[in-house]
Amino acid sequence: MSRRKIAAGNWKMNTTFESGMELARNISHVSIPDDVEVILGIPFVFLKPAIDMLLHVPKVSVAAQDCSSKNKGAFTGEVSASMLSSISCPYVIIGHSERREYHKESSEILAHKVNEAFAQNLNIIFCCGEPLDVRKQGNQNSYVCDQIEKSLFHLSSEDFSRLVIAYEPIWAIGTGETASADQAQNMHAAIRSFVGQKYGSSVASTIPILYGGSVKSSNATEIFSQSDVDGGLVGGASLDADHFG
Ligand code: PEP
Repeated sequence: MSRRKIAAGNWKMNTTFESGMELARNISHVSIPDDVEVILGIPFVFLKPAIDMLLHVPKVSVAAQDCSSKNKGAFTGEVSASMLSSISCPYVIIGHSERREYHKESSEILAHKVNEAFAQNLNIIFCCGEPLDVRKQGNQNSYVCDQIEKSLFHLSSEDFSRLVIAYEPIWAIGTGETASADQAQNMHAAIRSFVGQKYGSSVASTIPILYGGSVKSSNATEIFSQSDVDGGLVGGASLDADHFG
C-alpha cells in the first residue's frame, strides 16, 4: 500500500521574523522528490507571511504548532482553529509532548482541539509518545494506544482517515537519543494495528505515521526506510535547511 510521505519540521519557539522567512525560503529551494510533502511547523506570528511566500511553491506547506480547544471568546493569548482557517493555514500540530507537559493538555482537551480543527477543515498532525519510565517498564504500546483512543477514537472514519499521526517518544525529543529503527517500526506497526481494530484495515493502511525524536540527516534514512514509517516530524534539525533537506 503506498502512503503519503511527509517531511514535517517543528520550529517550536525559534527564529525571528527575518531568520524564519529566510529558513522557509531556503527550504523552498530544496529539491523534493515527487512523492514527498513538506510541512513546516511555524510560530503563529510568522504563519501568514510564510503562507504567502510559499503559495506557489509546490509540495511545501505550513502547520500551526497548536490551536485552542475553544471556538472563540475571552481566552487571552489563545489562537483558534477558525483564525488559522481564515489565513488559509492548511495544517495544525495537536498534542505535542511539550504542550502536554508544560501546558497540562490532557487527552480530553486534545480531543476538543481535534474537533475544533476538523470543524474548520484543518488537517491535523496528531502527536503521541511515551515517557522514559513507561518505555523502561515495557508499557509503551498500551500508553500510546490509550492516547490515541482517548483523543481520536470518537472521530468518524472519514475524519480519522484525514489524520497524520506522529509518534514521538518523549525520551528522544531534543535529547539526541533516537529510537532505533526497530523500536520505531514496532511502535508504528502497533499503532496501525490498533487503528485497524477500530476503523478497519483500509483506513489503517492509508494513515501516514511519522516518527519524531532527534531525527537528523545522519539517522533519517535508516528510520524512514522502515515499512510503517512514512516520514518524520523533525524539531532541532528542521532549523537548518541543509540538514532538513
Ligand atoms: C519535536 O519536537 O517534534 C522533535 C521531534 O524534536 P527533536 O527533533 O529536536 O527531537
